[in-house]
Amino acid sequence: MHSRQFQNVFLTKILSDIDRRHEKHGHDPLLPLHQLERAKYMKLTSLRLTLFEFVSIVENACFMATTCLQLFAICFLDYGLFWLLETMSFHGHQETGLEVPAYVDLEIKGGGFVADVMRGIANAFRPLTQKSILDVNPCLPLPVKPDYAEYLIILLLCLLAWLILLAEPYILRTRHLIMAYFYPKRAKERGMFLYNMISEDRTSIFKFVRRRKRNEFNHTRNVKHTRNFTWLNNRFSCLIYMCSCCSCCQSTERCTICGRSLTLSNRNPCDTPGCKGVYCGKCFEKSHNKCCLCNRPVDYGDFSDVTEVDDSSDYSEKESFSERQYRKTCGGQR
Ligand SMILES: [Zn+2]
Ligand SMILES: [Zn+2]
Repeated sequence: MHSRQFQNVFLTKILSDIDRRHEKHGHDPLLPLHQLERAKYMKLTSLRLTLFEFVSIVENACFMATTCLQLFAICFLDYGLFWLLETMSFHGHQETGLEVPAYVDLEIKGGGFVADVMRGIANAFRPLTQKSILDVNPCLPLPVKPDYAEYLIILLLCLLAWLILLAEPYILRTRHLIMAYFYPKRAKERGMFLYNMISEDRTSIFKFVRRRKRNEFNHTRNVKHTRNFTWLNNRFSCLIYMCSCCSCCQSTERCTICGRSLTLSNRNPCDTPGCKGVYCGKCFEKSHNKCCLCNRPVDYGDFSDVTEVDDSSDYSEKESFSERQYRKTCGGQR
């Protein structure tokens, strides 16, 4: 918390106070946040995780998974050994006994050194017992039944550890509240830093996402038929989109730039034939009512976009590289 940047992405009461104060002095209000900013900044009570929290939870989950696997292996081995010994003991006790197999006995008569040696050899082959029935029960191991309550305790401890692991990021967020209570000056400084950061990012985030969408559109249009992994990439994109969006079941149309769901009243589709660009009111207004997929960056107000490069061919004096690509693909419809 000594650093102003450290996890400073949570919207607190201090930030809304600062915003209200700035609004009174004639500045544009910062809150509520725009659609694109909501992915980066969130409330302290939000269930979503920041990137830092997500990485931390993944690291801890890997460690926990290894530990749980180790514990499971030990318990499994313990029970497996007991089962094996119990099975041996059970079947051993079912036996009525082992009979002494028939054997040839040699009787050496006489005395002397050679006879003693021969008698010793003959005794080595003679069974140790002369009983006709052998009781092997005392030889069988007697397994001790494992304590199932301890297995249950281990399972409960594992579940508790997983619960703590999942709740950890949310519990750690209380540090912000504790700091605001004990060090209000520090909290105000961090709040001011966050306010300035959101203000500075407001225009750059929109530009960045708009450029990314334009590049994605141009890229997929140009290489769709040549790259083999496009199909896989599309499937992964769909999967990620479905996972990230809870309301994926509703198949509503979304803004190309910010991803907000569109209704008939705020839907602004691109007029260019074949262009899939469709925008919400705010994004369309910010782009000077121009589509960012099929127009030049200068047309929709992005003067700093340097991704457009003109060349020295006949067409290049009037149209950009992406426009020429689009004309080639769409057959000169523009
Ligand atoms: Zn939008
Ligand atoms: Zn368009």
